[in-house]
Amino acid sequence: MTKSKTSKRRKTRPSTDVAAMYVCDSCGEEIVVPVDISAGTHQDYVEDCPVCCHPMTLHVDIDADGEAHVEGAHE
Ligand SMILES: [Zn+2]
Repeated sequence: MTKSKTSKRRKTRPSTDVAAMYVCDSCGEEIVVPVDISAGTHQDYVEDCPVCCHPMTLHVDIDADGEAHVEGAHE
């Protein structure tokens, strides 16, 4: 007899984390950042570059397809 297990790991909502990429102004590296698209279609925040630790202001835009676009601005 086989018992079917009900998975409780099912997500209650679709994934709200997408990956977006920007190019660091200081070192020129391509940085991939996770973006929480549930936080709004326009987000601005400062994040230190993981490569060179230079603080960058990130302007995040979420388009209608739920895709995130990040633009890094030098502070
Ligand atoms: Zn950098």
